[in-house]
Amino acid sequence: MISPEKIWSSDQLPTLPAVAVKLLDLSKDPDTDIKDVIDTIKADPAITAKILKASNSSFFGLRSECKGIERAVPLLGTMVVTSLALSFSLSEAAITQGPLKSRYDSYWKQSIIQSAAAELLATRLGNELKYDSFLIGLLQDIGHLAMLRSIPNDLLPVLEQAEKQQRDMSEVETEVLGINHTEVGVKMMERWQMSEQFQIAIEHHHDTFEQLKALQSDPNFNLIIIISASAAIGDYFCSPNSGLALQRLQQLMAEFYNMPIDDLHGFLEEVKYRFEEAAQIFQVNMDDIESPYEIMAKANEQLVQLTMKAQVDSTQAFARQAAIEEQKVKLESENKQLQSKAIHDPLTKTYNRSYFNEYFEKELHRCARSAQPIGIIFSDIDRFKSLNDTYGHQFGDLVLQRVAKVASESTRRSDIFCRYGGEEFVIMVNNPSENGIHELAERLRKLIENEVIEFEGKRVPVTASLGAVVGIPPRDMTGFGERLIAEADEAMYNSKENGRNQVHVRSIISQEDNELQKLVKRSRFSRWLVTKKIFDIPTISKALLKCPQQETQTKIGELAVNEKLLTSNQVTEILEAQQKNGQRFGEIAIQRQLLTREQVAYLLAIQIEPPIVLGKTLISLEMLQSAETAELVKLYLSEFKASAAPMEERRSEFANS
Ligand code: GH3
Ligand code: MG
Ligand code: MG
Repeated sequence: MISPEKIWSSDQLPTLPAVAVKLLDLSKDPDTDIKDVIDTIKADPAITAKILKASNSSFFGLRSECKGIERAVPLLGTMVVTSLALSFSLSEAAITQGPLKSRYDSYWKQSIIQSAAAELLATRLGNELKYDSFLIGLLQDIGHLAMLRSIPNDLLPVLEQAEKQQRDMSEVETEVLGINHTEVGVKMMERWQMSEQFQIAIEHHHDTFEQLKALQSDPNFNLIIIISASAAIGDYFCSPNSGLALQRLQQLMAEFYNMPIDDLHGFLEEVKYRFEEAAQIFQVNMDDIESPYEIMAKANEQLVQLTMKAQVDSTQAFARQAAIEEQKVKLESENKQLQSKAIHDPLTKTYNRSYFNEYFEKELHRCARSAQPIGIIFSDIDRFKSLNDTYGHQFGDLVLQRVAKVASESTRRSDIFCRYGGEEFVIMVNNPSENGIHELAERLRKLIENEVIEFEGKRVPVTASLGAVVGIPPRDMTGFGERLIAEADEAMYNSKENGRNQVHVRSIISQEDNELQKLVKRSRFSRWLVTKKIFDIPTISKALLKCPQQETQTKIGELAVNEKLLTSNQVTEILEAQQKNGQRFGEIAIQRQLLTREQVAYLLAIQIEPPIVLGKTLISLEMLQSAETAELVKLYLSEFKASAAPMEERRSEFANS
C-alpha cells in the first residue's frame, strides 16, 4: 500500500501547457470564434507546426493540402484541433531514458491505439462521439503515466506481477498499492478541469462485464462502452496478456456491438490500419506492434492455457479435498484399529487385561457411589500345560480360542469378558447376587466341559476351574479392587485343590449389606411391577435391557430431599460425618435414625433404577400407555413412602417445628 499523497505531491506529474488550457476553455464555449482558436494555437509555434503536419496526414484524409493553420482549423474543427494540441502536450511528458523509457513508450503507443480504436468504435455508433472518443481514448490511461512518473519504483513490480500472473492490471494495482491508474486518471481529469463526461468514461474503463451491464441506463453509457472496449483493444495489441484482453473484447463486442467473434478479426485489422495512421501524427513508430492475426494465435493459446489453469486449479482443489477426506478416513480407521488393538487380545479377540483393569476401576467407583455389588469370576483351564505338551502349542492356542469363544458368547453384554493372561480368563459381572454369580460360573464351566475340541479327529476333554466373588465397594475403596481379585483367585484355587472342573463362590458382602441389598432389589420399580402382576419377569427383564444407561446418577442425598425423606440440613449433617468416618450415606443415616433401612433401600432402588426412566422405556416399547405409566409410578412411589412408617412421624415433626 502506498499513500496517494506520494502521487499528488510529486513534481513529476504531467502538466497541461498554457496553450492546451486556453484551447480547452475555448472548446467549452459554443460561441467561440474560430479566429480565437487560431490565434491561441499560433501563440505556440511548435504546436502550430505539429497540427499543420497532422492535418495533412492520411489520418484526416483531407482532400487538399493545408498550407496554413488558418485553413486547417476550420477544416478539422475546434474539437479536433484542441485534442491534437492536448495530445502533443502530453507527448512532451515523454520519458526518454532509463528503465522507464520502454514502459513509457508502450504506454504512449497503447494510448494512441486506444484513441484510434475509440474513434472507430464511435463511428460505428454514429459520428456524434467521434472526437470526444478520440481524446478520451488517448487520455484514459493518463493515470498510468502519472504513476509511472511519480511512483515508478512502486509501480514497476506491480506491472511485472500482473503480467506474470496474467491478471488485470487495475486489479493488481489496487491489491498492492491500494490505488489504481483508473482512480488516478479520474483525479487528473478533475485537476485539469476536463468535462465530467471524461471523468465518467475513464472511471469505468476497467469495470467488470457485469458492472458495465449495470450501467446501461447511464446517459454516458455509449461513451463508457467505447472507452472500455478501446482499453481492451489497447491491451490486445500491447499487453503481454493478450488472451485476457481477447476474452474481454469478445464479450464486450458481442454484448454491446452485436459483433460476432468471426467479425472481430476484420475489425481489429481496421483498428490497426487506423492507429498506424494516427501514429504518423504523433510520429510514433508502430512497426513492432504485431498484426492482429499473429496476436490472435498467441491470445487464443493463452486463453486455452487460462481455461486449463482454471480447470487444473479446480481439479487440484477437488483432488486435495478428496485426499484430505481419504486421509481422515484412513486415520480414523487406523485410530480405531489401534484402539481396538490396545484393548483386545490378538489370539482370542476378547478384551485384554489392560482393558479389564481400566474398566474394573471405573466400575468400582460406580458401584461404590451407589452401594451396588460387583462380581468377578476367574476361570483357569485345567492342566493346560499338559495339553500343550501332549498336542503342541498350536493345539493349546486352539483350545484358548474355543474356550474364549464359547464363554464370551454366553455372557451378557453388561458383563465384560477378558483374557487375563495365559489360560486364565476373567469376567466382570454387573450387579450380581451371590446366587446369580454362582449360576453364571456353573453355566460357563458346563459350556467349556461340553465344548467338543478335537485333535486329529479325536475329542480331547477340556475343563476349567472357576472361582467367583461378589462384593460391594466401600466409599473408601483403598485396596478393595485387589482384595476382590485375590478372593476370586483363591476361590478358583479352591476349585483346583478340590479336584478341578468345578466352581467356588465367595461373598465379601457383610450380613448387613446383604440384607440391605435384598431390600433394594425388592424395592425396585421393576420388581414392584412384577409383584403387582403388571409384567412377568422375562418381559420386564427385556424392558430393563432396553433402558438407556444413565451417564450420571442422582446423589442419594438429593433424592432424599426430593422425596421429602430428609431436610437439606440433615443431608449436610450426614455428608459432614461421611467426610470424617468414610462410611456410606445410608449407613450413617440409619445409625443416626434419620432414615430406616427400608427408606435407604428405596432411595438406592430409585437411584439405580429411576422409575421415570423405566416408565419412559415401557411407553416407547408400547408396553404401557403414558397415562397408565404415570399412575403406576405415582402408586409405586406412594406405597414405598407409606411403608416408611417412622418417616410419617417425623413428617409431622417437620410440620410442627
Ligand atoms: P492347572 O490345572 O493347575 O491350571 O495346570 P496348568 O497346566 O493349566 O497350569 P500352569 O499355570 O502350570 O500352565 C499354564 C500353561 O499355559 C503354561 C504356558 O506355557 C501355557 N500358556 C500360556 N499362554 C499360552 C498361549 O497363549 N498359548 C499356549 N498354547 N499356551 C499358553
Ligand atoms: Mg495357570
Ligand atoms: Mg491352568
